Amino acid sequence: MLTDTIRTASSCADDSEPGVLGVHQARERILAALPPLQGEERVALRAGLGRVLAREVISPLDVPGHDNSAMDGYALDGSQLPESGFLDLEVIATLPAGGRFDGVCSAGQCVRIMTGAPIPEGTDTVVMQEHVLRLEDGRVRIGTGERRGQNVRRAGEDIAAGRAVLQAGKQLTPADLGILASIGIAEVSVRRRVRVAFFSTGDELRGIGEPLQEGEVYDSNRYSLYGMLHRLDAEILDMGVVRDEPAALREAFDSAASLADVVITSGGVSVGEADYTKAILEEMGEMNFWKIAMKPGRPLAFGRLGNALFFGLPGNPVAVMVTFYQFVLPALQQLLTGQPWKPFVLRATLKSPLRKRPGRYEFMRGILAQQEDGSLVVESVGQQGSGILTSMSRGNCFILLDEEQGDLAAGREVPVQPFAALV
Ligand code: AMP
Ligand code: MG
Repeated sequence: MLTDTIRTASSCADDSEPGVLGVHQARERILAALPPLQGEERVALRAGLGRVLAREVISPLDVPGHDNSAMDGYALDGSQLPESGFLDLEVIATLPAGGRFDGVCSAGQCVRIMTGAPIPEGTDTVVMQEHVLRLEDGRVRIGTGERRGQNVRRAGEDIAAGRAVLQAGKQLTPADLGILASIGIAEVSVRRRVRVAFFSTGDELRGIGEPLQEGEVYDSNRYSLYGMLHRLDAEILDMGVVRDEPAALREAFDSAASLADVVITSGGVSVGEADYTKAILEEMGEMNFWKIAMKPGRPLAFGRLGNALFFGLPGNPVAVMVTFYQFVLPALQQLLTGQPWKPFVLRATLKSPLRKRPGRYEFMRGILAQQEDGSLVVESVGQQGSGILTSMSRGNCFILLDEEQGDLAAGREVPVQPFAALV
């Protein structure tokens, strides 16, 4: 019987091995090594959407600027509100939003007021028009059930003058553009975009449009990387395919490091493969070559090339995306915002059983769906190989299965990381 297997070295088929780094350990080491990104620019408010604020914004104004009505109705002194019966009031003015009322409203009087109009002197309460009866003599009648101070928006209740309304490191959202506009700010100081250079390595890689010879493949990693970086609003320098030749690689590493804050390569970091890639990287910078206990995406190089951060991702198309999302994206976000990165993880119930061998952290591609009652369910996309890029397209989340996790039965709860939350 042929039971003797040959194992000369550890491989990605092994489930555990001493000296291998855990996913969390690797991410912590990367995040601990990040320098802050220097440099800022001033941009017009709209161009600030999605950019990261370089400095906190102090509001020069109260918002709202004055006490104003939250309703269309009648403004009055609330001390007169009846506890029983009615109160009839004379209407002395009508005040539209943006209007002014220079008089004073006295007892027995009220002002017809529109939403947003300033609260007239002598009043502190608005009764909505639907609760008011107009009398034939022009007066209005108010019944019980109204509360003193109701329907009044206070000056500064949203934003107080002199206070920091947005913090440095905030990535500007549509709401933030509205907030900045509401305090009259036309330009903002934002951190400069992070510059990312990347290239693929491998003699078997061809560009789209070139004919494929036997054994050759089209370079897809540069396109998925482009997509992920574009979503992040990075400045992208696509340096093409570099052949597995020392001189070409040295030159590519050199120019990438001189042009970018972050250099990403794919391929060429697996054990035994083109060993001179590692030798060159080691000679050019401070470099770590890690084997990470994860699936897919086991080998990872991380370090510095000149002034740039360097990520050497594995070549397999799914491994590239998984290692980008798990290591590069957190690093880029932390570089950009200066804020600690936190994963966004939900819990969902498994629709069908999962097979998982203990030993490595697995980022299984799953399909997450919401049921009618609002609960979340998830199932595997099926084929999970690190070359099955369609799994990333059909899936919409990673099912996170930690190192010790074994097989899982249907009905179990599992942590999931939606792709949508990864940008
Ligand atoms: P490597 O990490 O260089 O050993 O590559 C592992 C596998 O990924 C091989 O099958 C490569 O052909 C494939 N691969 C590497 N780089 C790319 C790329 N840029 N596009 C598509 N497949 C790639
Ligand atoms: Mg290769």
